Amino acid sequence: MAAPSAGPVPAPRPRPDRVAAHVAALPRSGIREFFDLVRSTGSGPDEQGRRLISLAIGEPDFDVPWHVREASIWALERGRTGYTPNLGLLPLRAAIADHVHDETGVRYDPETEVLVTVGVSEGLDLALRALVEPGDEVLFHEPCYVSYAPSVALVHGVPVGIPTSAGDGFTLDPAAVDRSVTAHARVLLLNFPCNPTGATLGEATAEELARLAERHDLAVVSDEIYGELTYDEPARSIVSRPGMRERTILLRGFSKAFAMTGYRIGYACGPRALIDAMNKIHQYSMLCAPAIAQAAALDALRHGRAGRLAMREQYRLRRNLLVRSLNELGLTCRKPDGAFYAFPSIAATGLSSRAFALRLLCEQHVAVVPGDAFGPSGEGHVRCAYAASLPQLEEALQRIAQLLATLRARARRRRRAPGARDPRSPVP
Ligand code: PMP
Repeated sequence: MAAPSAGPVPAPRPRPDRVAAHVAALPRSGIREFFDLVRSTGSGPDEQGRRLISLAIGEPDFDVPWHVREASIWALERGRTGYTPNLGLLPLRAAIADHVHDETGVRYDPETEVLVTVGVSEGLDLALRALVEPGDEVLFHEPCYVSYAPSVALVHGVPVGIPTSAGDGFTLDPAAVDRSVTAHARVLLLNFPCNPTGATLGEATAEELARLAERHDLAVVSDEIYGELTYDEPARSIVSRPGMRERTILLRGFSKAFAMTGYRIGYACGPRALIDAMNKIHQYSMLCAPAIAQAAALDALRHGRAGRLAMREQYRLRRNLLVRSLNELGLTCRKPDGAFYAFPSIAATGLSSRAFALRLLCEQHVAVVPGDAFGPSGEGHVRCAYAASLPQLEEALQRIAQLLATLRARARRRRRAPGARDPRSPVP
């Protein structure tokens, strides 16, 4: 008897809300979740009349320098408001190539190897879309920027987070990367200086990672959005290592060191074939970055050096104050060499990062981000952005000290009356 025909394969049933399954499966950003809570708490005064101090947002508190704003106004007045070439304005690409050469020692051809993007966010998405095929693995160090795992999942890749720890200064151990490489590994995604840990790339680690990328034939995406923001030594880029220029997409931008988040300008530099591929996607999805913002970015590169260095000097003073004081308070914190984040351990309090951040918000009106928002290995830490003025930081530190004193007093009371739960405590 003939075997019954299998018949047509039934089409997968769409979700009732019609949202693609891989999008529906994305978790909400841990940072967003916490910000919603901060918003619901309100930025107005608490019952003691104190205003909210936010160390939660990764956004510079400096105003965009006036000459940059004037460049955007000038572009608007002159009617420079149309499309630009897909790759971006050529004078801007040339200025970017010079800046990247100054910063990394690597020279890119502005005609073919530089693409102006809508923030590093678009650059990251384009790089992953250009490199990743379904099922390819993308390796990155964790705790990491919240968008890495979702961005990989959106291109049907497989995110592989490699834990780093405070004990190692949150640097990436090349041996751990080696152990995580499988036959499907395709991309190594690096972010030094790192959000949220502030870690930078050491000379020896850069070299070992470069050799590892060659050995396993990995493409490298290097997100160096904080590249200009290092305080003790100039930032080291993997692209400067021998053999790396050919296999690396370098992502940088204007949001952080130039305090231009709302302008939404970033850029990608890489070998022509990869920039061509990214530009192909960019021309269909974005067309070009906004013309007025490109004019402002060009001005920032031509005339913004002194302002940029002055902002960096302020971040250095803030970092020094914040890190010294957190350690004095018993919240162990290594001195981060880059970005504008401190990532202290809150282990001594016995609370989870989420519980600590919640109590700090509810009881002291200070917002920080729980470390687990940046991946499981961030647990036990909180991220404090020092994109806030010195007086604000001093006030926030006093309030953190008050919370720690309260926690100690409650712990003493509990030791005296075991089993009793503090009714004022928002979290068990
Ligand atoms: N990468 C990292 C590590 C970031 O911290 C951010 C912003 N917080 C981005 C990329 C995106 O930056 P933008 O799109 O503003 O350039």
